[in-house]
Amino acid sequence: MSDEANPFESLQEQIDDAAAYVDINDGLLKRLKRPERVLETNLTIRMDDGDLETFRAYRSQFNGDRGPYKGGIRYHPDVSRDEVKALSGWMVYKCATVDIPYGGGKGGIAVDPRELSAAELERLTRAFAEELRPLIGENRDIPAPDVNTGQREMNWLKDTYETLENTTAPGVVTGKALDSGGSEGRVEATGRSTMLTAREAFDYLGRRIEGATVAVQGYGNAGSVAARLLESEVGANVVAVSDSSGGVYTRGGLDAAAVKHHKRETGSVRGFEGADEEITNEQLLGLDVDLLIPAALENAIDAELAQAVSADVVVEAANGPLTPEADDVLTDRDVHVFPDILANAGGVTVSYFEWVQNRQRFYWTEERVNEELERVVCDAFDGLIEAYESYGVPNFRTAAYVVAIKRVTSAHAESGTWP
Ligand code: NAD
Repeated sequence: MSDEANPFESLQEQIDDAAAYVDINDGLLKRLKRPERVLETNLTIRMDDGDLETFRAYRSQFNGDRGPYKGGIRYHPDVSRDEVKALSGWMVYKCATVDIPYGGGKGGIAVDPRELSAAELERLTRAFAEELRPLIGENRDIPAPDVNTGQREMNWLKDTYETLENTTAPGVVTGKALDSGGSEGRVEATGRSTMLTAREAFDYLGRRIEGATVAVQGYGNAGSVAARLLESEVGANVVAVSDSSGGVYTRGGLDAAAVKHHKRETGSVRGFEGADEEITNEQLLGLDVDLLIPAALENAIDAELAQAVSADVVVEAANGPLTPEADDVLTDRDVHVFPDILANAGGVTVSYFEWVQNRQRFYWTEERVNEELERVVCDAFDGLIEAYESYGVPNFRTAAYVVAIKRVTSAHAESGTWP
């Protein structure tokens, strides 16, 4: 993991790379690279032992030209202003790549949630909801889960907002539990778009995904679902997976669901009985596999680690898993990298479906959700390939940003500049 890479600088570099291929006014380019506003605040709560504790919290609203700000809430000790700004920018370009009518936002609290009790986490989440209240709303800014948050936190956010506003507004957050207005298919959606992107990528490259060997770095929601669906829906062979404690490898293939069960029981993928051997995260990246899926955190792969990558197809389930230098290394080595803003866009896409269902108070079957998601991902994949083949860009990431930047600038131009 690179400690030095600043994800906000990575984002700005990615935008500059793509802007070089698009006819864009310099003044407008500045707008595409910086958030519109960032809330930075203190959350002071009473801990279970009676003491007060204060946590730093953030919400960045990056760009709302295409619709309400949309993006997750992360609980992690490393959450910072720049990280949240970067993640909110990636949301803008992700929503534009898959053409759903949202801008981008992101928030987080600098906290290690494992050190708090459930009651403390609830007080912290409700305190955050109160701070967020003037900024969020079904038509303004719609939070969702991210690292270390899930249905439980979304339900608390929604309940606090609805109580304070004296209304019902299930569409104020997405990623809720089903009985609180969640959508079928939401939990699996990010991993599903990763699987679909990999399937389309192999087809485009003229390779067979059936039987292809896969390594997955990071085995949380995104990575474990992608692994399971790659196995069950397209017949790929997941041979190695890892989490922050290390990895496991079996030449003939792991059982992705069984590894997940083991992680749920023990807290780690290590010690999984069906594995031939335990490996480090570095060893996982160097495995001679057909497909590598980074699904941990941003900047997990720097230039040095990128030199070690053996796979020649990478599909990014995590947000910003490659530093810009790592990206350059892989482009120079002709490794095909299919970017996060397409490959993990299933999460926000099904969040969008959830919001549509909340607003209509009419709920879809899981089958319908998955069908609509497949259509969105496949259309976006085709759009990305069209840009890749017609703009002379060096890689698929730049192609995705070209598509996205054109959509954001066009929305801005159509609205006009005022005053
Ligand atoms: P998660 O907390 O469920 O899982 C993260 C996993 O990464 C854990 O297994 C953790 O142990 C592992 N990890 C952390 N550091 C690691 C390291 N250095 N090496 C190997 N493994 C490491 O989080 P998640 O929801 O799966 O999110 C993972 C990534 O996917 C993040 O970048 C997130 O922003 C992105 N993402 C998630 C969603 C979603 O719906 N969950 C949607 C879009 C993008």
